[in-house]
Amino acid sequence: MKKRVLIGGFMHETNTFNPFPTGIEEFKKYGFFYGQEIIQKRRQTNTELGGFIEELEQAEGIEIFPSIFAGTMAGGIVTSATFDLVTSALLNTLRETQVDGILLALHGAMVAEGHDDGEGDLLESIRELVGPNIPIVITLDLHATLTPKMAAHADAMVIYRTYPHMDKAERGREAAQIMLRTLAGEISPTVAVAKRPLLIGPPQNVLPSDEPMRSIMARAREMEKLSQVIAACPAHGFMQQDVPFAGVGTAVTTDGNPELAQSLAEELADLLFQHRRDYLVELPSPEETIALAARSSRPTVAIADVGDNIGAGTPGDGTALLHEILRQGVKSAFVTLWDPEAAQLAAEAGVGKEITLAVGGKSDPLYGPPAEITGRVRTITDGIYLNREGMGYSAGVIGNMGLSVRIDSGELTIVLNSIRTSPNNLMHAYAIGVYPQDYQMVICKGGLAFREAYKPPIVNSYIQSDTPGYSSCNLERFSFKKLPRPIFPLDDI
Ligand SMILES: [Zn+2]
Repeated sequence: MKKRVLIGGFMHETNTFNPFPTGIEEFKKYGFFYGQEIIQKRRQTNTELGGFIEELEQAEGIEIFPSIFAGTMAGGIVTSATFDLVTSALLNTLRETQVDGILLALHGAMVAEGHDDGEGDLLESIRELVGPNIPIVITLDLHATLTPKMAAHADAMVIYRTYPHMDKAERGREAAQIMLRTLAGEISPTVAVAKRPLLIGPPQNVLPSDEPMRSIMARAREMEKLSQVIAACPAHGFMQQDVPFAGVGTAVTTDGNPELAQSLAEELADLLFQHRRDYLVELPSPEETIALAARSSRPTVAIADVGDNIGAGTPGDGTALLHEILRQGVKSAFVTLWDPEAAQLAAEAGVGKEITLAVGGKSDPLYGPPAEITGRVRTITDGIYLNREGMGYSAGVIGNMGLSVRIDSGELTIVLNSIRTSPNNLMHAYAIGVYPQDYQMVICKGGLAFREAYKPPIVNSYIQSDTPGYSSCNLERFSFKKLPRPIFPLDDI
């Protein structure tokens, strides 16, 4: 008899300081699939589901049972209606169909109305339904806010090791292998989580390629060489999140040894915490940023618009840097903004027309005011593109920027998108005919994730700018209420 493995997922990175709730329509813009559509849309993609599918399809005696996948761009708190809809759809498939194992792609930092621990609550309701004997193996983003509840209801956790996250399919395959070995009776995984009072994230010094993360990741790899250790994973957590269990964490999965799992998780968490001062960075103001980029001898300069990092749940229409570009008379720059209204107006004007319009700065006073630009409409597209291999995130996945318009004013190029799009795969620019390498500077609505798309020879230097917004790393700007205190760097511990 074949063993049946449910695959599915529910992914959202929730910025609780973004006041706009995330409803089902936001998931439908990016990824919302039932049944076989999951396999059609995600087979051979660099995603966790791509990895699950590849590994399970190669295995003997396994039937893949695709349930539901809902994943969208980071943003405000998920509505309770959406959380209930996705959770009950998943539970219903489990009520109707008996499975031998459950493989889920989760983010780990989802907050829904009434659910501070989105993934913990989801896993708890699955566990209640299927009982203790059906293995649940999950993948998580490196920015997961781990909780003991997640560990209590999952059997194994696999977390991205890379940042930018280029190992999604690889981690998916790893999780699927753990599932296959469990179903074969070779292992009996158990996972432990450890937490520390520390908030870290982009644009801080947190890349696994640099110290101190490099040594911490190396220690995790050493732990995985110990017998009984299946996976040892640090998770950065997500800084702009006001929840009672915020902060860095670690998850260690062992073969039936919960004490070992807990002690290694604690050791790895201690390492993360010991280095707490090494992650901190000082950033230039928007004014200083543009002046630095304009005189840089190492163009193209990629500027991280730190407060308006779409991948950390911001609107993407912040104009702080564009205002400086205009004020300082910068000649050569590429700027992308989320502005459906201006995109519509520009599209109505038509290709070749010169127009003057107010762009960006419409979502929240923090991100405004709008900037007035005059330029020629060059390109109008439906915004559909394919994320390609070697160009950044999510190779093989169809991206959708919605109606998008390119406007040129000399060598200043503004692209207006109607659906918020992270600059994490270069195709977001190429699809509208923009070659970022042609400009002195490019404004990236991101923190660090875009660096796999924007790297040499496309760009030759980086500046991280202290712009205002929901993804600012200046945590004093936020009013935390549920956060456990003391916590570094808000408290000097
Ligand atoms: Zn992440």
